[in-house]
Amino acid sequence: MNGCSWFACTLGLLTLAVLSLAVFSPRAHAQEAKAKRCVVVWSEGTAPRSVYPKDINTAIAEGLASLDGWEVVTASISDPDQGLPDALLERADVLIWWGHKKHDLVKDELVEKIVKRVKDEGMGFISLHSSHFAKPNKALMGTACSWGAYKGDSTTLKVTVKDPNHPIAKGVKDFTIAHSERYSEPYAVPEPQATPFEGVHSLKDGGTDPSRIGLCWQVGKGKFFYLQAGHETNPVYFDENVRLIMRNAVEWAAPETE
Ligand code: ZN
Repeated sequence: MNGCSWFACTLGLLTLAVLSLAVFSPRAHAQEAKAKRCVVVWSEGTAPRSVYPKDINTAIAEGLASLDGWEVVTASISDPDQGLPDALLERADVLIWWGHKKHDLVKDELVEKIVKRVKDEGMGFISLHSSHFAKPNKALMGTACSWGAYKGDSTTLKVTVKDPNHPIAKGVKDFTIAHSERYSEPYAVPEPQATPFEGVHSLKDGGTDPSRIGLCWQVGKGKFFYLQAGHETNPVYFDENVRLIMRNAVEWAAPETE
C-alpha cells in the first residue's frame, strides 16, 4: 500500500461511508415517504374477538400488506381524534370504513372533513357492510342508504363477477363465503356507475336471495366503493378472494397520481 497504511485507508473508507450515509439517507427516506401512498383502515372495535382478535381494521390491513408502494395505517374510533387526526386524513389517499354500533358517536365535524377530502380533493372511500348507515357513507351518497331487509337467515353468499373488465374485479373469480346475514334489495342509493359484483345468498330454508354486492360511484373528485359482505361474526376479511377485492379496490379508489 503506497503511502497509505492499511489502517489509514480503512479509516478513510469508513469515514466516507459514514459521511455518505449521513448526507444521502435522509433524502432517500424523504423520497420513499413521498412516493408511498397511504390507505387508512378504520373500524370501531365492536367485532367479536373470537372472530377478529385485533378487530376488523387489523384483519383488513393484513390483507393489504402486500400492496406495493402503499403505507397501510389502522385507525379506531377509540384513538385520539376518533382515529383520524387532520394530519392523517390529509395524508390518506384512500379511507376504508367499517362501522356498525357506533355510527352516532362519530363526530359531525369529522364527517364534514371526510366528505371534503373525498368530494373536493379526490380521496377514495371504501364502505363495508353495515357501514351503509355510517355517517360519512350517508353524507357522500346523499340518500337514505337503507336496504330492503336485514335477515340473519342465510348460510353462504356466492359472489359473482359481473364485470370482469372492471379494475376491482381483476383476477377475481366467482367464489362462495360463509355469510350469515343478508341485505336484500332494494338498496336506497344513487344509481351506481359500475356494479362489478353481484351475489346470491343461500337461505337456511333452501331459498335464495340475489342482491348487488360490489357497487362503484364517482362522488365529486373521489371514487367510492361499497362491498356488502363483511358481517362481524363471519371471518370474511381473512378470505383470500375478499382480500384481493380489497387490494384492487384500494388501487382503483386512489386519486390519479400527478
Ligand atoms: Zn352485519
